[in-house]
Amino acid sequence: MEAKKQGINTICTHVGEIKDEQFQGAVSPIFMSSSYAFMDVDVKRYPRYFNTPNQEGLCKKIAALEGAEDALIFGSGMAAVSTTLLAFLSAGDHIVLQKTLYGGTYNLVVEEFNKYGIEYTFTDGLDMDAFAKAITPKTKVIYIETPSNPLMTITDIQMVTDLAKANGIVTMIDNTFASPINQNPLKFGVDIIIHSATKYMGGHSDICAGAVAASKEHIFQIWNLAKNLGGSLSDMTVWMLERSMKTMAIRVKAQNKNAKKMAKWLDKNDAIDTVYYPGLKSHPDHLLAKAQMKGFGGMMSFELAPHIDAEAFQKALRLIKASMSLAGVESTMLCPAQTSHFLLGEEERKNQGIAEGLIRFSVGIEDKEDLIADIEQALAAVQEKAAISAH
Ligand SMILES: *Cc1c(COP(=O)(O)O)cnc(C)c1O
Repeated sequence: MEAKKQGINTICTHVGEIKDEQFQGAVSPIFMSSSYAFMDVDVKRYPRYFNTPNQEGLCKKIAALEGAEDALIFGSGMAAVSTTLLAFLSAGDHIVLQKTLYGGTYNLVVEEFNKYGIEYTFTDGLDMDAFAKAITPKTKVIYIETPSNPLMTITDIQMVTDLAKANGIVTMIDNTFASPINQNPLKFGVDIIIHSATKYMGGHSDICAGAVAASKEHIFQIWNLAKNLGGSLSDMTVWMLERSMKTMAIRVKAQNKNAKKMAKWLDKNDAIDTVYYPGLKSHPDHLLAKAQMKGFGGMMSFELAPHIDAEAFQKALRLIKASMSLAGVESTMLCPAQTSHFLLGEEERKNQGIAEGLIRFSVGIEDKEDLIADIEQALAAVQEKAAISAH
């Protein structure tokens, strides 16, 4: 009889834990060795071979969360992205990437791929025609990211994997914004799932790490390059990440709930123009998000009314931090035009629909009343200042 699949919180808490045989402690011991015996052992262990006890334990947890056979963890999200892409692309190959991508991934492609003779096409939309049109006989990989940063566009995962399979193409998804709690792309036929574990997996804004989940065969192919490129994660950080992930389902569900309430509140506020949150019925991809996500996530963005200055608004916040990165238990905001999408330039931002006054909001676990009070006081302070200077 097949064992009953464990619940998400049990997986987060226990899968992959290392038994403390010596002292029977409740948590995984941390093994810091960079040197292991090579004689009379089944596995030759070394941190850069991605196979220390702590690394292997955490990979089991991540694989279980995505429903995958295997996983690998890396020193950063970009180490996971770059190693995975290069493991499947050689000179002369072509890759199709969706148009709206994490800035670091976009930079990797446009700044580095020419050197390796890898050709690429960014789709001009997210519908089937846009993907189909971008495929060439040389296309080896289709790469998507949903929900996307910062406008929370939703890509139809099943549509992309059907198209890829019909053409013998490997599919990869950056699942960072959803987290494994809200979206499990393997169910929709994706081959390889990538996470910046710096975000929801870490969840406390104090870890930089990356992860990949896939079949054993695909993970082996990635590992073969990974051990040569060397982007492994230190066991100290692996252990911290294991600890963080025990509460991931609880955290992410609290963030889903908070975000939905904040999106509704912002949507009704006169000082806010458009709110981009897939959980809102007004979001153009709401039904698609509902079909492929278990929760709508803790990320959103919104446009301030034109008379409100984005910089002054962020400076006036007291509880919500204006800071880079996302997905921590603390709420943060940033202006993509000044930060994550600064390098794109004003024209390309306009092309992607990113307004200069757009604010990206990573909703934390604080009480929503306190978040609302903070935004209210910041809006009041900025509008008062604007009114005074108009006199
Ligand atoms: C942060 C992020 C990355 C890159 O991860 P790092 O840990 O910063 O290297 C990739 N994709 C998305 C969607 C991200 O938010």
